[in-house]
Amino acid sequence: MWSKAKAIKFSRGETSSSHRNRQRVASLVEDEAEPVEEAGDCGESCGEGLGTAATGGEVGETEVPPGMLFDLDLLDCPVCCHALTNPIFQCDNGHIACSCCCIILRNKCHSCTLPIGVYRNRMMERVVEAVMVPCPNAKHGCTEKFSYGKELVHVKQCSFALCYCPAPGCNYAGLCNDLYRHYYANNCRPRECYRSGSNVAAWMRISDKIFVLQEYKGPLVVIQCFEEEQGVYVTVNCIAPCAPGVSEFSFQISYSSYFGEKTMSFGLREMNRIQKVSFETPEKDFMFVPHYFMAGRPDLKLKICIHKRGE
Ligand SMILES: [Zn+2]
Ligand SMILES: [Zn+2]
Ligand SMILES: [Zn+2]
Ligand SMILES: [Zn+2]
Repeated sequence: MWSKAKAIKFSRGETSSSHRNRQRVASLVEDEAEPVEEAGDCGESCGEGLGTAATGGEVGETEVPPGMLFDLDLLDCPVCCHALTNPIFQCDNGHIACSCCCIILRNKCHSCTLPIGVYRNRMMERVVEAVMVPCPNAKHGCTEKFSYGKELVHVKQCSFALCYCPAPGCNYAGLCNDLYRHYYANNCRPRECYRSGSNVAAWMRISDKIFVLQEYKGPLVVIQCFEEEQGVYVTVNCIAPCAPGVSEFSFQISYSSYFGEKTMSFGLREMNRIQKVSFETPEKDFMFVPHYFMAGRPDLKLKICIHKRGE
């Protein structure tokens, strides 16, 4: 069996949808810790921020002893460069391609143009199935393992994904509950309290760009505004991993002009969850307040009501 005869230990960088950006490193050395910078204004050190999470290099070491280099790119389809999944086909010259690529190539080998798409490479299929890959968040405590390529599906919903403090100038990152504690304990700003189901006034200066609401020692909800030529885009996101059952909220936000003569509202049954605030103008899930509504005022008079889903 593969698992007895040979073992692979490796670390990998941040995953992304783009294969070319995925960094895979077969390694004989200790995994590097997540690069988190020193804490900023809020004061807490980042090392503490990772709380009880395991440090890099410890997870899985008993099962997967180091000792062998392996080029994981060999497990990617040479045509589309995505992780190979079964069935895997080969031409008479032994070149391989995934089944999607065989269709796209109209069953002509990309390398030698011989027919491909009938004969399977069973050995390669077994190798792909046998290689187990830990979740990229293993160093933060996730114990899940997957056959090669499948971990990328899981990582989008992994509850051990790092979340980043939304306070401007604070570089803290940690598991979401540690982040919530950090935000409360360090009095990170901005912060306004909210209670599920109650209306909260969120009067924000457009130039501040960010407004943070926190349930008592709990979840962080970030209202952001992005000023563009025609008006201001307003978004509401929760800082949390997209794991089932973690910080699932709905919300309703409303804007009213200074004298209350113009109003608008926007809501989502499922608040988006993000691990880090982005300052790029959103393409979806926003409320757009046109400049002529604001009559030159530098602030937005908002009201928000956040509900825990299922309550
Ligand atoms: Zn392919
Ligand atoms: Zn070929
Ligand atoms: Zn995971
Ligand atoms: Zn902070």
